[in-house]
Amino acid sequence: MKIPLVDLKLQYKSLKTEIDSAVGEVIERGEFILGPELKAFEEDMAAYLDVKYAVGVASGTDALELALLACGIQPDDEVLTTPFTFIATAETIAKCGAKPVFVDIDPKTCNIDPSKIEAKITKKTTAILPVHLYGHPADMGQITKIAREHNLKVIEDCAQALGAKHKGKKVGSIGNAGCLSFFPSKVLGAYGDGGMVVTDDPAVAEKLEMLRNHGSKEKYYHLVHGFNSRLDSLQAAILRVKLRYLDSWIELRRQKASHYSKLVSQIDGIESPWEAPYAYHCFNYYTLRFKEQRRDKVREFLASQGIATAIYYPLSLHLQEVYRYLGYKPGDFPQSELAQAEVLSLPLYPELTEGQMEEIISLVGRCCREETKVR
Ligand SMILES: *Cc1c(COP(=O)(O)O)cnc(C)c1O
Repeated sequence: MKIPLVDLKLQYKSLKTEIDSAVGEVIERGEFILGPELKAFEEDMAAYLDVKYAVGVASGTDALELALLACGIQPDDEVLTTPFTFIATAETIAKCGAKPVFVDIDPKTCNIDPSKIEAKITKKTTAILPVHLYGHPADMGQITKIAREHNLKVIEDCAQALGAKHKGKKVGSIGNAGCLSFFPSKVLGAYGDGGMVVTDDPAVAEKLEMLRNHGSKEKYYHLVHGFNSRLDSLQAAILRVKLRYLDSWIELRRQKASHYSKLVSQIDGIESPWEAPYAYHCFNYYTLRFKEQRRDKVREFLASQGIATAIYYPLSLHLQEVYRYLGYKPGDFPQSELAQAEVLSLPLYPELTEGQMEEIISLVGRCCREETKVR
């Protein structure tokens, strides 16, 4: 049985009429950049997240970079973040000329551990950039408290967490700015690249609108150096259709995640995803932790049976070649290094069937039992 990590073709089949007609309308009208579809989608997203402003940009990576700049991050500033994330999180801090400063993760959520943040704050620290990894919100209560006490900005990386909630409040609406990605495999995926920054701060929103459009408010009059980074009208029209289904898709993801976890509980040595009491997990990814170095065996075995899996992420950022200049070494972030050896994400999408999940977990169980016998 072949099972992909995500099946985007199945989703398209179920929405084909609506999406084709939305795309057709954009093409018929012939307005592709900063048109009415983008404006409408920005309004829909602002309403969905309960924020005042939403600014569509070209990708989740650009959302992070533009949000950092719009929040006033300067060269030589230090920005605190997690080493256990996608490169874009730290890369964009560095692109602003600032220095990414890593803080180890909480092993239960794989998100930045708030109890380790204060020790890393210096006179140069200007912001905290938490990531809501896999779709589980970071501990925003503690993070915003520390930020207030030390006068730091909070920029949320919500690339994997659109629709997730912290104490009932959607992530992205809690810090000074929230960054979304519409990369195809994210909970709300475009048919190409796309991203968005959301904020309640009118000054930040104004800067974002300038930055994404070559630093201009009025065409051909430029106030600062900016970017060519807009969410195009075709993607906005597609995402606008999909946004209407997002909450029902997240509910399906949650039901499937809980079914997976029930099946997994029968097998020793596997930890299923945790949901903190404050959290509503949106399960962009369903990620298990395999104890006793079994992860790679299980991954190989599943691959041989046609089941796709993924490792988010196999090497913590503090150990990456690109960050050698920061001077970190193995052992600096033990929880992040343990996670990189143990995590494995299984196929999860709204159309995945219970039969497929049962098949996957029975293969996992078989592999783990055989491993135990060998030991
Ligand atoms: C996907 C992702 C990004 C980047 O988004 P793109 O749209 O691919 O540029 C940033 N941070 C995290 C945690 C992500 O998962």
